[in-house]
Amino acid sequence: MNGADKRTSKFPLRLNELSSRVKVARTPIVPVAATVLTTAPRLQATAAAARAVLRPQQLLAHAHTDASRRTAPSGLGLDSVDVRRRMAQRLRSAGVCNAQVIEAMATVPRHLFVDAALVTQAYEDTSLPIGHGQTISKPSVVARMLELLMGGESARRSATLGRVLEIGTGCGYQAAVLAVLSKQVVSIERLRALHDKARALLAPLRPANMRLVYGDGMQGHAPNAPYDSIVAAAGGDALPQAWLDQLAVGGRLVSPVRQAGSQRQVLMVVDRTEQGFEQNVYEAVHFVPLKSGMVAG
Ligand code: SAH
Repeated sequence: MNGADKRTSKFPLRLNELSSRVKVARTPIVPVAATVLTTAPRLQATAAAARAVLRPQQLLAHAHTDASRRTAPSGLGLDSVDVRRRMAQRLRSAGVCNAQVIEAMATVPRHLFVDAALVTQAYEDTSLPIGHGQTISKPSVVARMLELLMGGESARRSATLGRVLEIGTGCGYQAAVLAVLSKQVVSIERLRALHDKARALLAPLRPANMRLVYGDGMQGHAPNAPYDSIVAAAGGDALPQAWLDQLAVGGRLVSPVRQAGSQRQVLMVVDRTEQGFEQNVYEAVHFVPLKSGMVAG
């Protein structure tokens, strides 16, 4: 049994059944290999039933349309713990098993991160616009990414994500959830306007263990490296070398990546071991593009 096999048995979601395993790379793995092994029919059916293509970024138009149709939920305020508990229950029903992840998501008030016009949808499983052409990922996608991160060797050993680098702060929601699960979070955003917005939205929550950085996340953030966990909310054609360099031994990286030779984006998990890097490909996803450079306006 190799290291990857041992690890997959610990995934409560039986993520190995949802995944298409690609070859294990012992050396840095850029660009990403396009090879995807076929899965057994039963497993394909399971994966299809469990999860359609995750589209955390694509519902802008839908969100606005839905918002205009909706009325505010009666009986409970959005700041009610019960509203978040119901979201947590839905995450459980959707197959999220990691209790720490569910608890963290039940803790963070998502409605504080979305625009007033969309606030009634804050606890539904939908992505929502956060301005500047970007979106806040839907809760099930955030949970999925965090659950995968919690499956890394260091995270399993310590029951914490340790020192985390997040690429793509956006409105700061996922960073706030990460802060609950981590010792320290460094979150980097290339759009100044969103960096400032996240800073303002996070201020009332005062997460003492979070550092927001305005910069190009494709370079990672060397001053705080190495990281036990790296998570990207935007996907490029390959994993930037800087992310691999800045991943600690025992650490795990979770990121969307476009498969070579196709437009298909998949969730990529990379573990750094004493021997090198192990790479696994999971289901198809749809995140905003990872872009280089910074935008000051
Ligand atoms: N996690 C965020 C979702 C943000 S959407 C939330 O909870 O709101 C993805 C974000 O990645 C966008 O804000 C986009 O501007 C940012 N992004 C894309 N490329 C980047 C890069 N190279 N460095 C930093 N941020 C980047």
